[in-house]
Amino acid sequence: MQILRTVNELRAWSRAARGEGKTVGLVPTMGALHAGHASLMRAARTRCDRVAASIFVNPTQFGPNEDFARYPRTFDADCALASREGVDAIFAPSVDELYPEGAATFVEVEGLSERLDGASRQGHFRGVATVVAKLLIAAEPDFAFFGQKDAAQVAVLRHMVRDLRLATELTICPIVREHDGLALSSRNIYLSAQERTQALALSRAINTVEDLAGHGQRNAATLMEAAEAVLGAEPLVRVDYIAVVDWATLQPVENAAPGTLFAIAAWVGATRLIDNTILA
Ligand code: AMP
Repeated sequence: MQILRTVNELRAWSRAARGEGKTVGLVPTMGALHAGHASLMRAARTRCDRVAASIFVNPTQFGPNEDFARYPRTFDADCALASREGVDAIFAPSVDELYPEGAATFVEVEGLSERLDGASRQGHFRGVATVVAKLLIAAEPDFAFFGQKDAAQVAVLRHMVRDLRLATELTICPIVREHDGLALSSRNIYLSAQERTQALALSRAINTVEDLAGHGQRNAATLMEAAEAVLGAEPLVRVDYIAVVDWATLQPVENAAPGTLFAIAAWVGATRLIDNTILA
């Protein structure tokens, strides 16, 4: 497995592969890799001849009071996991490499970027869209792999790829969960034992809503109330948002249709977690 540090190295690696007639897949990550990331790598491995994964804790998607400095960085273990999953190249640039001194160019998907997580994390999706645009322009992958876990991010990136007419097809992979239902996240390590137990309210709320919707309850307000009741039962859990939205526009809907996104963000102690489901 090669370790690439510069955009030019990534571009040369990708062009060489494509020059040989190979398809290229890219898996963007911030490292601290877990089985959720591994599932994206596996999907890429199945779909593409050559797979690169990026590991970059992107400063522009963190707010001033967020966890950029203490975000877990586990590069050696990440490389071991990626290598086990058959990744051909790791792209691990420095901050200066992706944001050269004086960098002043950003990508903003207007409207979408202010909804869901964008409402409580100002500037977050501008940072995400900017870094993913840089990665897609550098690697020119045929396919890029993202998790449904970050469903609002998926909506923003789909819109960006469409607006910029990028040649990459986005592939969205299902949420990978712990045995007890908690969605895997690099931030789960912040949780105390008590918080870890109460964090299960998120997946419980998702299951409750799936059950209700499956039994014909399509009213968004009723679904949100049911989720609120589950989350409200845990004293360490504080709801950030509960949303029933069109997955493409992130605009609220009154009644859930097949494909409607049901999404939750909640603080568990000092840790903000998200979870969601696409309703059947
Ligand atoms: P991150 O390193 O948190 O930026 O995540 C990198 C990619 O992995 C994103 O596309 C995430 O949506 C995806 N991802 C994170 N957690 C999970 C999970 N539990 N299941 C599936 N994909 C995930």
